[in-house]
Amino acid sequence: MLRERLAAAREAADEAYKERTVYKEKMHAAYGSRENGVRYLRKVNNLHILKPDGRCSCGMRRGCRTAEVIYTHWVQSMIQKLDEIDKQREAELTAADFEEDWTLTLWDRYMNDDGTARTA
Ligand SMILES: [Zn+2]
Repeated sequence: MLRERLAAAREAADEAYKERTVYKEKMHAAYGSRENGVRYLRKVNNLHILKPDGRCSCGMRRGCRTAEVIYTHWVQSMIQKLDEIDKQREAELTAADFEEDWTLTLWDRYMNDDGTARTA
């Protein structure tokens, strides 16, 4: 009786763990998709920079419809957040001390730049 209950509890816990993993993967995929979308919006943003006289860097003299979309609060906010994320990632990579990573150190010591092993 107790053994059956323990087995059922274990099964329920395993099922919950699997479900959590599935949702976690879906969430990461969704974040990745959104990030890709915002990267494209940032590219479009850089092609449609409005000048003080109302002209757009794309060549439109007035009323660039793309700039109207790109300059909405949500799009600008997402681009700003992406810029901050990229800056943070770059800072983390700059701060990382790769010399402390023995695998990279060993790789450099024993491998040539073309990926072949050093002989001497
Ligand atoms: Zn434009």
